[in-house]
Amino acid sequence: MLATTSHDPGIRGRLLQQMDRLFANDRGLGVLVEYNGRPDMSERDKDLQLAWADALIALHGRNRAASIYSSYASKRRAAEAGTLAPVGSWDNLVLGSTPIPRWQRDLHDFLCVVCGESFPSVLIDHGQDPACCRCARKAEVPTQALPLWMAYSHHRFATPGLRREEVPNGEATVTFTFEGGQTRPYVVGEAGLFYSDLSRLPGLVQKAVRGAAEDLNELRLVIDASVERHGRGFDITAVFSYDSEPEGSDGPPYGFRFVDARMVATHGDLSQPVEYKDVYQLLEAILTALYAPSPVTTSNAPSDPAPPPLPTLPSEPVGEAAAPGSGSPAAPVQAPADEAPIPTSDGGAQAPEPTSSPRASSSGASPTGSGDRSPRSRRLRLALTVLAAWAVCFAGGLLLLDSGDVTAAAASLVLGGASVTGLAMGIGLIRLLRRRFPLMWS
Ligand SMILES: [Zn+2]
Repeated sequence: MLATTSHDPGIRGRLLQQMDRLFANDRGLGVLVEYNGRPDMSERDKDLQLAWADALIALHGRNRAASIYSSYASKRRAAEAGTLAPVGSWDNLVLGSTPIPRWQRDLHDFLCVVCGESFPSVLIDHGQDPACCRCARKAEVPTQALPLWMAYSHHRFATPGLRREEVPNGEATVTFTFEGGQTRPYVVGEAGLFYSDLSRLPGLVQKAVRGAAEDLNELRLVIDASVERHGRGFDITAVFSYDSEPEGSDGPPYGFRFVDARMVATHGDLSQPVEYKDVYQLLEAILTALYAPSPVTTSNAPSDPAPPPLPTLPSEPVGEAAAPGSGSPAAPVQAPADEAPIPTSDGGAQAPEPTSSPRASSSGASPTGSGDRSPRSRRLRLALTVLAAWAVCFAGGLLLLDSGDVTAAAASLVLGGASVTGLAMGIGLIRLLRRRFPLMWS
């Protein structure tokens, strides 16, 4: 664990607070088949959580974000261990939660404690240790194993982590060139939020970066950027100041710290700039606006309870009522709730009937009486004709043999000849019939 025994508990403490708030409504039971895809969260809540996760990672870097997420998750697991029902059966676990990440190390404790090769999905040993499905099966009975809490955005945070000595090289840096041609790298720090190769803020465009320095260690950075999603957007001017002190007792400089930002909405009439001194409040304003449902769909309930029983039934197309924002696991990420203002056809009524009809019709499909022209029946008729002709000739041969006493050699000669003649006659007969009755044989 990258022990940033922070002399500044504020940074980690405040990030932890954000996670507390962000994951408060996330039951985190995605490891269970029952909750695969999180039907207990609306599409908007899922999108918003992912956007927050990305923003926190851009703001703090992968290492700190992963470290704090990991400690949040283990605290939460410990707190909920007594309240969760056991897995019950290994079949209740989602298989996909145990890929083999092939990490060289696991500084932030994201891997199974037993094998260290897979992502865990259950807690074994009285809710103490996260273990993968494979190891849990060997070590625990399913009625004792607890489902592992992990946030919907878990895999955004999960990362092996940098070793302490690697951090100076692992942190993202920007290089500034000063008058006189002197260049110098700076740890990006919180300014990463507005660098498009580090940040996933929706529609982020970095428009200008200005630096001003009286002292090379106290660089002041001003970034003009814009964000935009689905027609809503903001122009932002954010100010950062460089902190060359390491976060812990040693290590790399903290990097740029957020100072303040002015933000103007580029949508609607809200053109008054708003000033923010707190980066989380800034993010709250940006993300809440960009992921807000459109005004039309206020009726779109966050967790619509009606549809779930229906989709399992019909395999036949019932019509357009299939998925009105029901948040089915198959639905791609892109379609947010605010894009679908069509709650008109609330798919309740139609579903039950189709189950009976397709099944009834599928079994009784083929037996229609007349003019069967399938190639199979034609082949059958051909074979029968040849067989009949052969049988007649063979019977003729037998009769011929029956009349007098002959040797075995002569008998086989006669019967063989009769067979050949029979086959030849059968084929001839078919040719004749084909020519005479082309319809029947075509
Ligand atoms: Zn394991």
